[in-house]
Amino acid sequence: MNKCTVNVEYGVDLFNETVMREYLAKDTVETLLRTVNEHVPLDPAIANDVAHAMKQWAMERGATHFTHWFQPLTGSTAEKHDAFFEPTGVGQTIARFSGKNLIVGEPDASSFPSGGLRCTFEARGYTAWDVTSPAFIKRHGNGATLCIPTVFCSYTGEVLDQKTPLLRSQQAMSKAVHKLMACFGQTVGHAVVTLGAEQEYFLIDKKYYLRRPDLVQCGRTLFGAPPARHQQLEDHYFGSIRPRVLAFMEEVERELWRLGIPAKTRHNEVAPAQFELAPMFEELNLAVDHNMITMEVMRNVADRHGLVCLLHEKPFAGVNGSGKHNNWSVSFAGRNLLDPGSNPQDNAIFLATLASVIRAVDLHADMLRSSTAIAGNEHRLGANEAPPSIISIFLGQELTQVIERIGSGKSTQTETGEAQLRIGVDTLPPLPRDSSDRNRTSSFAFTGNKFEFRMPGSSQNCASICMILNTIVAESMQSIAGVIAKLPKERFNEGLQKVIQGVIRDHGRVIFNGDGYSEAWAQEAARRGLPNLRSTPEALAPMLEKKNLDFFDRMGVLKPAEMQSRYDVFMEAFERKTTIEGKVALELARSMIEPAVTAEFGVLTKALANAKAAGVAAGTSAIRGVAETLGNGLDALHDRCEALEAALKRKPADVMKAMGDLRAVVDRLELDVDDARWPLPKYSAMLFDY
Ligand code: ADP
Ligand code: MG
Repeated sequence: MNKCTVNVEYGVDLFNETVMREYLAKDTVETLLRTVNEHVPLDPAIANDVAHAMKQWAMERGATHFTHWFQPLTGSTAEKHDAFFEPTGVGQTIARFSGKNLIVGEPDASSFPSGGLRCTFEARGYTAWDVTSPAFIKRHGNGATLCIPTVFCSYTGEVLDQKTPLLRSQQAMSKAVHKLMACFGQTVGHAVVTLGAEQEYFLIDKKYYLRRPDLVQCGRTLFGAPPARHQQLEDHYFGSIRPRVLAFMEEVERELWRLGIPAKTRHNEVAPAQFELAPMFEELNLAVDHNMITMEVMRNVADRHGLVCLLHEKPFAGVNGSGKHNNWSVSFAGRNLLDPGSNPQDNAIFLATLASVIRAVDLHADMLRSSTAIAGNEHRLGANEAPPSIISIFLGQELTQVIERIGSGKSTQTETGEAQLRIGVDTLPPLPRDSSDRNRTSSFAFTGNKFEFRMPGSSQNCASICMILNTIVAESMQSIAGVIAKLPKERFNEGLQKVIQGVIRDHGRVIFNGDGYSEAWAQEAARRGLPNLRSTPEALAPMLEKKNLDFFDRMGVLKPAEMQSRYDVFMEAFERKTTIEGKVALELARSMIEPAVTAEFGVLTKALANAKAAGVAAGTSAIRGVAETLGNGLDALHDRCEALEAALKRKPADVMKAMGDLRAVVDRLELDVDDARWPLPKYSAMLFDY
């Protein structure tokens, strides 16, 4: 027997098509599936039946509560649970869950960030079921809750969440893809944007975590000298996975599989104590929800294993940070448009799609960068590791050659045998898929049949990233399709060739296959006029530029007021996080570090006095030397604390600078103070003892 029988309960906690067929009448299922597949609103006529089925199914699986599960602009998910039960008399109750409960819920929205879109006194927002994402059961302890994925809006219709703009951007993509494919005579099919989000994370032992107030409150260490050995030997990456970590991974995967989340790959990452989980790619909206659930499951399972899962972009200085590579593509009628085909027609579609992405990324690099502008990424992007803060496209050698031959405009065979590639006539040479020609330093890399956006931080919600990506590509596709749609049939290929040549001429500057970490690239990029938005405020600023406000408005994805509100929310989050970090650093330095150093200093000066009294000269110069180092360190510590306190009254950049200055002193003192006295668990313990 060849049958693969894995003892896995796949998708059992998901209200999927199989469950629908079991619990609902055939007609209702068809109506519901149409709703899901065609992204149309739920027919109110079936809402009650669907709600009843969902309740029945969930209660049979132990659920006592339901919640509208949504994604506010806080960056995490939100939920408010309601019991199914309603009392009907003394000691009597009935389980109730109506179509109205299903379609619209009304959270008390006043405490969610809205960037001034909605005044708190009229705290009225509502959540509505996003039928394209199936309901699921979340388990906890002995209980379970039915979660209904929803979008979150204000009563005046402005979006307050991450999902609504994502759905709008998918609509824009869908329209654009249909328009483009119609140019190639293909009119029947759905456009599907796909996402595979590779999730990086750290695992450390809980006993260390709880003794690090900086990790507990900020998610990253604000002090800590890197140990002599960390990732230089490159022995962790893809190394054998420790049994304790493997036990964690297995439990995570089983939980995810129950929810129909296709966790696929697991491995050690570059830094010690760093790992990655990659799912099989899925339809974008679903993949976004699945990634949010994945992060939550990882945190919860880690807790049960006495571990803590750190999703911050840069928990430890001096070793690699964590990203979330967004692998993005788009397909039509089941064919991946970024997959170079095997015949001239498919190649032409591929090249038109590729050209749309190149044009979009060059025109809107600033907005793409803005989608990754969060406090945690500040310490990651451009800091000598995974991608710089410059957006550039890596195409690989072969594809670049193809593009150059198209762009060259050379008519036919040249002396060297180099021919111009003729679109729609020639077949592309076979391109390597995601293998030899890899470039890990590129921020936006073509990897065989998809683009991999590597800037997003490990803690980020993919919705806000892909919303931007969808919108800018949709516009480019529309623009290209607009031109080629008008071409007479006999001149179609020639016309398309010209369009693609134009894109390469005007936007080819964004293509870069070299080392993205090098200083030479930063200079070259500046010469090419590519933006390099290093800090979070710089990277958020484009959101308020008129051209961008108009653009997202025109594309029907974000109204100017909505964009403005998102800017406010993100900027405020950055400022608040920086202030919290500054305060925690100050408190740690004053209440933990300074006393430890002072005590050490006291021991040394006392030893010095004792030696003197005893008439012992040997050793005193060494003790004096260390005491002086510590004394100077104490003075510097004191001064830099004062400086940080002053900076906390100024702008975030000043706070970050002052924190860096303070850290330099503290990390030096860590090496001079008695190990037993140092009040914070050290990097060597956290990164290796798990
Ligand atoms: P790596 O980048 O580590 O080499 P892979 O190339 O195996 O990893 O794939 C990375 C991710 O890309 C996986 O989540 C995979 O499912 C996803 N992926 C593959 N094809 C597509 C596609 N057409 N659209 C979106 N994501 C895809
Ligand atoms: Mg990758």
